[in-house]
Amino acid sequence: MTTALPLPAIHASHSGCWLRDSHGSTRATGKGEAIIAAADTPLLMLNAPLVATRLGYPDLSGLDLLELFAFIHPARFMVPTPKGLAHVLDLPEPDGDDAVPALLQIAAETLLATCSDPNWPEREGAWSALQNLTRMRWPWAPLLAARLATPAKAERWLFARLPEWEEAPERPQPAQVALAPEAITQRLGQLTGSGAEARPAQVAYASEAGEVFAPRRREGLPHVLLAQAGTGIGKTLGYLAPASLWAEQSGGTVWVSTYTKALQRQLRRESRRAWPGQRGNGTQPVVVRKGRENYLCLLNLEDALQGGFAGRAAIMAQLVARWAAYSQDGDMIGGDLPGWLGTLFRQRGIKALTDQRGECVYAGCPHYRKCFIERAARASAQADLVIANHALVMVNAARGRDHAQRPTRLVFDEGHHVFEAADSTFAAALTGAETIELRRWVIGPERGSKGRRRGLSARLADVASYDEAGGKAIAAARYAAEALPGDGWLQRLAENAPSGPLEELLAAVRATVYARDESGGQEAGYGLETEAAQFEGAFVERAQAAQEALAELRVPLVRLGVRLEAILAEPPDWLDGAGRARIEGARHSLAWRIDLLAAWEALLDRLGGPADPEFVDWLAVERSEAREFDVGIHRRWLDPMKPFARTVLEGAHGVMITSATLRDGANWDTAIARSGAAALEIAPRLSSFDSPFDYAGQAEVLIVTDVPKGDVAALAGAYGRLIEASGGGVLGLFTAIRRLRVVYGRIADRLARTGLPLYAQHVDPIDTGTLVDIFRDDPRASLLGTDALRDGVDVPGHSLRLVVMEQVPWPKPSILHRARRLAGGGSAYDDQIIRARLAQAFGRLIRSKEDRGHFVVLSSAFPSRLLSAFPDGTPITRVTLDEALHRVSGSVSARTIRSESPA
Ligand code: SF4
Repeated sequence: MTTALPLPAIHASHSGCWLRDSHGSTRATGKGEAIIAAADTPLLMLNAPLVATRLGYPDLSGLDLLELFAFIHPARFMVPTPKGLAHVLDLPEPDGDDAVPALLQIAAETLLATCSDPNWPEREGAWSALQNLTRMRWPWAPLLAARLATPAKAERWLFARLPEWEEAPERPQPAQVALAPEAITQRLGQLTGSGAEARPAQVAYASEAGEVFAPRRREGLPHVLLAQAGTGIGKTLGYLAPASLWAEQSGGTVWVSTYTKALQRQLRRESRRAWPGQRGNGTQPVVVRKGRENYLCLLNLEDALQGGFAGRAAIMAQLVARWAAYSQDGDMIGGDLPGWLGTLFRQRGIKALTDQRGECVYAGCPHYRKCFIERAARASAQADLVIANHALVMVNAARGRDHAQRPTRLVFDEGHHVFEAADSTFAAALTGAETIELRRWVIGPERGSKGRRRGLSARLADVASYDEAGGKAIAAARYAAEALPGDGWLQRLAENAPSGPLEELLAAVRATVYARDESGGQEAGYGLETEAAQFEGAFVERAQAAQEALAELRVPLVRLGVRLEAILAEPPDWLDGAGRARIEGARHSLAWRIDLLAAWEALLDRLGGPADPEFVDWLAVERSEAREFDVGIHRRWLDPMKPFARTVLEGAHGVMITSATLRDGANWDTAIARSGAAALEIAPRLSSFDSPFDYAGQAEVLIVTDVPKGDVAALAGAYGRLIEASGGGVLGLFTAIRRLRVVYGRIADRLARTGLPLYAQHVDPIDTGTLVDIFRDDPRASLLGTDALRDGVDVPGHSLRLVVMEQVPWPKPSILHRARRLAGGGSAYDDQIIRARLAQAFGRLIRSKEDRGHFVVLSSAFPSRLLSAFPDGTPITRVTLDEALHRVSGSVSARTIRSESPA
């Protein structure tokens, strides 16, 4: 029998509040009493920020079981709900809200008792971490200290515990091989397993995928395949079959690029069928590679542990250090660091531990040989399969450090997102936030700012003292960077007291945006923008002054780059291997900044003259919750697939772009245009494979015609009733955060009282990945969200049985959208975007042959021309809300009867 920790516990949900005292008696209580109790004595609770939100009391603190779990079992997955806690600790699930405080007492005792377990796998480092946490007055520290024995011999410190990566020779170039279709089919059979049912469409898909691995016929013209594969084809194993065969026969590396973390996880899992976890020599054949801003920077962590972080953030740093010792790869965003850990403290704390701003000092760093980022980069050079994301593949191609490591055989899964990934990768933004980053990169900390950040002169001190011209260039760059915005720039703009040519330009941008605002405050809380056109002379003069200031910074940086090249070409005696790697790193990040400055200058150069038809430029004031956070000038390519073609396609030998929603109905035009193939005058190979699902029998689309547009009360009422009719399991999709919040606020309490928990992005203090984990784990839960949930959710089975869209998902009428709409055929362009969004949202519903469900759009005037978004055969009916409720509840009861009837 598991005992309970005799400390008082609290649980708060939308349906009420429960307190349990140390003697084991639980009672329901009001919010006021609960807040007083929490202020009096530290209470056991689960997810303090969420409990605080439910109580409406932001400063709540206590003995949070999530923090204890992160200490006892770092790098272990857990859904942060009472049910999830019970599962992970092998305890009985609570059978209602009132049973949760008792569970918390038992779970706390179970976790603390782990300290006495001789087989506790995460013991090493716990005692040392606890000594630090005790000094920081972490509430759990005294309870743990009473249970955790002093280790017999000194524990290894994190930085001693982590293994070093090893240099490996470069891989030879891949052999030129052509894959036989029979060999691909045989490999597919091995991957799917002998018991798996034969899927002819998957076999045909795998054979098509094999085409992109054939030897390239002409320089600069890769094989390009666009493959639409309906949900359920089994596309992952479909392309992994030829990919693994090609890697085996050629000795080369295949990159698979995804958009969502869910697919990355699935790929990691499925790749185990084709490759072992480790080769005989200890290297990894499959590597997940992300942008460097995802990984823990050990130097930042060391700084945080040694006083860089204070208060709660310092406690978080200790828990992150516990995790780092047990993490598989040091990935903090979507890896094995619990997504909820950051929200228990503050998300910026997690970010501050990654290498966000390219400040890495490479071989100058004492942890270089243990660095997670360097390890991932080296491992991917030796891998057969690299699993990456679209943004990383593009950034790597555009400004990667090592040309030899550029991908040449590429599969873009979730290929419908390649366009938007290219759009943001190849964008330019001359804003306050961007320019102050550059200032800090050049100058380093100013006026008492803390942290280990160092400016250019500190990072290259040895170069400055050895090479006179290099030293002068650094000094000139430092001087020129003072023209960039500095700390407090937003405040100065608001007070109309800008300092320096860049701030003066930003002040003019801000004034112009407000002067031309047509929304009359209607858009309060969100960004404002205006076209970069029709400027007055004074504005153009400020742009020119800013342009000159940027050029004055770029010129010494270019000179410094030349000096670094010269030092590398004729190295002095003192330059050892580590110094060389550091200078190469500096040269690389310098080149990137020089390109950035050149792009900004080009952007400013055009403000006084005619527009460049290749680009769309605009001015914007970014706001959130009515608070300004950035001001600047933005530039996007009208067609970002042009730079994509040049940087990614042209250097590749074979590229496959695949998705369940690539085409628009039966039309390939948009998919071809959005592949970049036209820019290289390539005619891509086109293939399409229909989903094996029986949409006519598994799904129904209901267009509800009697919820008036703009009536938020009616909208909330409709959501509430649909969730009740379905008994939860609803994914609610919104196009505006404001409406989402209002709807949530009106229905969450009522639903909770009937045992139907409701969660929401942008409301609950929980990261999106964890919200989806919670939703997946509880078939009675429902989840409201915006874009990220439209195609980032993979929840097969009963947990997701109804998708509700609040309205037709029209594109936001931004300046960028207007330009692309004009170039892309007007309303036909809009329709194509909406159909793609509907198809992606519908795709959340039916993930397996067993799934059944409804897709509801609340729209009184849903245009018929959009109906082709749904798969052929799907029944589509226009109904009243009452009829929709009837059908939803009818199918829920039919499913219950089916599942209860004897087999
Ligand atoms: S090598 Fe760079 S990223 Fe890695 S730990 Fe050191 S400073 Fe951080």
